Amino acid sequence: MTAQKKMLKIVLFTGYACNNNCAFCIDADKRALPEKSTAVLLKEVLRARNKGARVLEIIGGEATVRPDFNRVVAAAKKLGIPQVTCATNGRVFADLEAARKIVASGIDALIFSVHGPDARIHDALTRAPGSFAQLKKGLKNLRALGFTRVSGNTTVVKQNMAALPRLAGFYIKHGINNVEYIFVDPNYGGAKNDFKTLVPRISAAAPYMRRALALGRRAGMDQWKARYVPLCHFKDCLGQISETNERELFLTEHWAPDFTNRDAIGSRAVVGRRKTQRCVGCGLAGQCEGIWVEYLKNYGDAELKAVK
Ligand code: SF4
Repeated sequence: MTAQKKMLKIVLFTGYACNNNCAFCIDADKRALPEKSTAVLLKEVLRARNKGARVLEIIGGEATVRPDFNRVVAAAKKLGIPQVTCATNGRVFADLEAARKIVASGIDALIFSVHGPDARIHDALTRAPGSFAQLKKGLKNLRALGFTRVSGNTTVVKQNMAALPRLAGFYIKHGINNVEYIFVDPNYGGAKNDFKTLVPRISAAAPYMRRALALGRRAGMDQWKARYVPLCHFKDCLGQISETNERELFLTEHWAPDFTNRDAIGSRAVVGRRKTQRCVGCGLAGQCEGIWVEYLKNYGDAELKAVK
């Protein structure tokens, strides 16, 4: 598929303010940057439509805490953008009225960030007591409102990796058919600042990630994926790698308060991640992005194994 044939996806960052304080957050050092104004966001929504965006993903920080969130979503839908989605920590949906208003704004899908199967693990990572209970209540409220287009994503760190099979059980119980297990990005923010505390060895995390994917397959969940992983650790689930799918389907632009990236997928592969000498001759090198640059600086490349 050529770049022209791919669907344009715009990731619209509203700003970096958030009601959680996740230890690994890529935006940990950006909290003080000013939020975009409503006028700017509405202008950007129009620009996204005029550029032909098929998907508009609105993110923060936590975009749902903004008083103008529903207005921005409604504007995007009124302009005819087919898929308007939001990645969220889910807390705001614990308030049934707030959840009802967001659903009424026309949002097409929500991506809940769940970082543990229980409050002990999730709240320790979000550093926001009560955040797991609110997220669960939010899922319940959305179900009661008849809104079922909820996906999940989980950032995989040392503190939650062993609990991924249990977390898979949580997603299965809630009928969430679209889940990403995301190997933490240590190039920026919280995971960079506190690398050794948070970032697991890929050889330690991958078995838990694969186990979670296998549990999903067994339960009939056909849209569960691993993201940001070296493929030599995922040979038995090469059809479940987010990057491979998104490269084929999307051209993704990031519009943030402090930067614009016209090819987020391409630049991540070129700048953010790296293959090494150990990848020479690997049969998967053509489809693999390697591993995070900051990971290699800290742990080296001894875990990468060329696949014959
Ligand atoms: S050896 Fe390198 S290219 Fe091959 S799968 Fe592993 S990280 Fe990717």
